[in-house]
Amino acid sequence: MNYETVIGLEVHLQLSTNTKAFCGCSTKFGQPPNSQTCPVCLGFPGSLPVLNEEAFNYAIKVALALNCKIQDLIKFDRKNYYYPDLPKNFQISQYDMPLSYDGFVDISSGAKRKRIRIKRVHLEEDAGKLMHPAGENYSLVDYNRGGMPLLEIVTEPDLSSPEEAYDYLTKLKSILGYLKVSDCDMEKGSLRCDANISVRPRGETKLGTKVELKNMNSFKGVKLGLEYESKRQVAAIGDNEKLVQETRLWDVEKNITVSMRSKEEAQDYRYFPEPDLVPFVVDKITIEKVRKDLPELPEAKTDRFVKEFGLSEYDANVLTSDVDFAGYFETCARSYKNAKTIANWLMGDIMAQMNTRNAGIKELGLTADGLVALLKMIDSQAISGKMAKEVLLEAIETKKDPAIVVKEKGLSQISDSSKIEEVVSVVISREAKTVADYKNGKKAAITFLIGQIMKETRGKANPGLVNEILKKKLGE
Ligand code: ADP
Ligand code: ZN
Ligand code: MG
Repeated sequence: MNYETVIGLEVHLQLSTNTKAFCGCSTKFGQPPNSQTCPVCLGFPGSLPVLNEEAFNYAIKVALALNCKIQDLIKFDRKNYYYPDLPKNFQISQYDMPLSYDGFVDISSGAKRKRIRIKRVHLEEDAGKLMHPAGENYSLVDYNRGGMPLLEIVTEPDLSSPEEAYDYLTKLKSILGYLKVSDCDMEKGSLRCDANISVRPRGETKLGTKVELKNMNSFKGVKLGLEYESKRQVAAIGDNEKLVQETRLWDVEKNITVSMRSKEEAQDYRYFPEPDLVPFVVDKITIEKVRKDLPELPEAKTDRFVKEFGLSEYDANVLTSDVDFAGYFETCARSYKNAKTIANWLMGDIMAQMNTRNAGIKELGLTADGLVALLKMIDSQAISGKMAKEVLLEAIETKKDPAIVVKEKGLSQISDSSKIEEVVSVVISREAKTVADYKNGKKAAITFLIGQIMKETRGKANPGLVNEILKKKLGE
């Protein structure tokens, strides 16, 4: 039987506010355990939460960028569960009235475009972090993370393959990067993704039994986990096994998913309104102000790059995928006319360097001015395109300006005709036999002569000029 995969993603995003969601504790990463806690985030009796306005504004910003509607009345709820990472025994979250709902994100998977509906975006607080020292019979808990502002972004089950899930996450991260509300670092846990997946016979409209996948620490991991899980579910149905609704963990080492627990239902959490935070109304003016202040988002930038710089849609898409990368391109384009050339360098050698070094354009340390200077050196034939590639690598490696690398390595190409003429004459008189061969019709002999000239100049002669001058002299 032919099955189709149904996927819905829940992304948890740590907002990069200075203080926690409901208290004044610092959100700084990597501080000594439990050094950033207070009676509120530790749940001492009598302490009262106060909503962090910045976290709220960030949430509205994300909601609007994801085309969501904003709830008229904002209310928080308590999600109750008993676990050591939660000192209050409840998490402040939003249940039946999320801050925003009914949005969408457009993705392109290959050549296809698809709209993924956003079910809800709501604000909640993070739990503490449990650590289980290897070989010990105890666990440790760090409450520094407890109470950090989290945004939960939930899609409808609109994704129909692991690739689409990957493309959605990439697009979402790109948008979030533009909004500057989070560092979106999966390794640091500031962006986490749980994936819900089920399969059903193609054509069936009822949803199948879903499994929630956790513990993936990269987008690639999400994709691999979903691929494994979709195959497992199809195989289970083929074996007449009954699928159960459960939470499964992705095992990065073994590349499999393992059952963790049967999934709890909403009623298990005994949700009820948070009595310590009064419901409130966000006035339209505030919302419109945030909307007006939204930055130009990736899609709008792509369209503009196509129009303004004559780039292909594909190139514009790649360049705008990251806000810093897009900004870098524009800075270069302001002082260098050929946008396509800039795009080629950025998307070729420079992007390759970013990938191998796992660095953003900023961390690469190559200034836009430096790159433009390099491109101009190629245009003026001061260096060849091949040399420029070497210079670029060296500049990135040593964090030196490309112009300085060229100078230090004495790489400047010889484009001075009189100098090249000298060398050509020397080679012609030295290689009389080859020259005679050439004149007797053995045209391929010219390659040898060019090789000799390049050798004399240690590869620095401008090849175009060498060719031209040599032919002229041989013709005489
Ligand atoms: P829960 O109440 O279990 O958290 P939700 O309705 O909030 O379930 O959905 C959580 C996520 O699971 C959403 O992203 C949703 O799109 C997705 N989802 C729901 N049902 C299915 C299903 N049968 N198969 C795949 N994904 C699903
Ligand atoms: Zn606190
Ligand atoms: Mg849910």
